[in-house]
Amino acid sequence: MPYKFTFDLSELPKFFFNELTILSYQKGMHKTILNTLRDIIIKFKIQEATGLNLSDAVTLLQDLIDLHGINLVQRGKFLETKKRAIFLPHCTRKFMDNRCQAIFDPTVPSYFCKHCSKDCLVSKASRLAEKKGYDFYVVPGGSCIPKIVKRAMYEGAIGIACGEEMKMSGEVLGSMGVAGQAIPLIRNGCANTAFSLETLKKTL
Ligand code: SF4
Ligand code: SF4
Repeated sequence: MPYKFTFDLSELPKFFFNELTILSYQKGMHKTILNTLRDIIIKFKIQEATGLNLSDAVTLLQDLIDLHGINLVQRGKFLETKKRAIFLPHCTRKFMDNRCQAIFDPTVPSYFCKHCSKDCLVSKASRLAEKKGYDFYVVPGGSCIPKIVKRAMYEGAIGIACGEEMKMSGEVLGSMGVAGQAIPLIRNGCANTAFSLETLKKTL
């Protein structure tokens, strides 16, 4: 399910994300994180940069921090896994119409990239995945992921999606004993979305 608001954090400086990572470490130690979140929103001018109201900005940052925290907890188990896959949402393709040459196989279900555009994030991510020995899927929705994971018996999974979508898939995979690493979208909107390739490289 998408957020009820759209956001674009792609222009924010790198130390914004560093600060979020630090907060995710501290979250377990501090029960009241709301004031810190508000400070970050003001410091990085999140409302001005994204047009979000304070409550939506808090929701977004809270989800990013939660996902960082889950990644930290799961990291050790994830690194021990042998059979892994990466799941991207279809909204990260450069084109959502027939200019995208990917073949959709409904029996998986997944799009399989044909690399029609070198600057497409899906194309770049799939090349990285291939080099590192990961299986790679571009799914039409998060609900497809548990079926694929179960069928291929993956032990570890990297998921890229917006925060709400990610939390739902993460809970299901967690209950299946799969070690997950989450990479949240930095721009949502269900088309022309974006994630950080640098973050993906580090996570791999
Ligand atoms: S590079 Fe792949 S995913 Fe991107 S638009 Fe082309 S075929 Fe589709
Ligand atoms: S932004 Fe992408 S991942 Fe999020 S709900 Fe829309 S299509 Fe799914």
